[in-house]
Amino acid sequence: MPELPEVEVTRLGIQEQILGRQIVAVLVRDGRLRRPVNPDLAARLQGQTIHRLWRRGKYLLVDLDQGQLLLHLGMSGHLRVLPAETPARAHDHVDVLLDDGHCLRFHDPRRFGLLLWGEDWSTDPLLARLGPEPLGPNFDGCYLYRRSRGHQQAIKSFLMDAQQVVGVGNIYANESLFRAGIDPRRAAGRIALPRYERLARAVVEVLQEAIAEGGTTLRDFTRPDGKKGYFRLSLAVYGRDGEPCHACGAILRGIRIAGRSTVFCSNCQR
Ligand code: ZN
Repeated sequence: MPELPEVEVTRLGIQEQILGRQIVAVLVRDGRLRRPVNPDLAARLQGQTIHRLWRRGKYLLVDLDQGQLLLHLGMSGHLRVLPAETPARAHDHVDVLLDDGHCLRFHDPRRFGLLLWGEDWSTDPLLARLGPEPLGPNFDGCYLYRRSRGHQQAIKSFLMDAQQVVGVGNIYANESLFRAGIDPRRAAGRIALPRYERLARAVVEVLQEAIAEGGTTLRDFTRPDGKKGYFRLSLAVYGRDGEPCHACGAILRGIRIAGRSTVFCSNCQR
């Protein structure tokens, strides 16, 4: 599933190719996504210039002359900029044709993604309730410490709650907690400030490393074969239950927290 780093790498990969371009046409092959694309999408977008491409959590927003396009990659979506004449494959649901002969192509086999035009998405419930960006100025150990007081919830679930902080998916929560030496089962409200400072740093590091890793696959976004650029981030715990901890050699434990696969070292994480 595309997580924050994949979405950020998508943004970095396509922004230069779409900024300043005018939309000349829109081809909707199949608009049945998580929410159906606007029935009048083509009329809404035609003739508009793309001024900004930005990210909020796992949402991408395209600022136009009038209104915004909201995109989400769902479970299996991806976006590429291709020469417009590139033949469409299965699940290439929407093409936004640009004035330089390229198109922004939205591909999503499982259809949990979104591609919607609206006047202003910032006040929509999808975005309005999101917590701060982990790579932004409002996220640090102090913030996590203050927000977590009184929470009995496991720290791992707390960290994955988009209302507390956006974009820390399951893999990144597992890895960050390992780096910070925190047991994922520990109650969020009972963790002291210095440990939250370590955790906030770990979250930022893990996400930045994943984005940097993805940067090496940026060329994939323009490849017509549609090869994806998912990360080969070296994972210390995720997917390694039953294997030895890289730090101490103890066998890593696999459990489930709130239904999500959780792997940790009971020796290094307290
Ligand atoms: Zn260990």
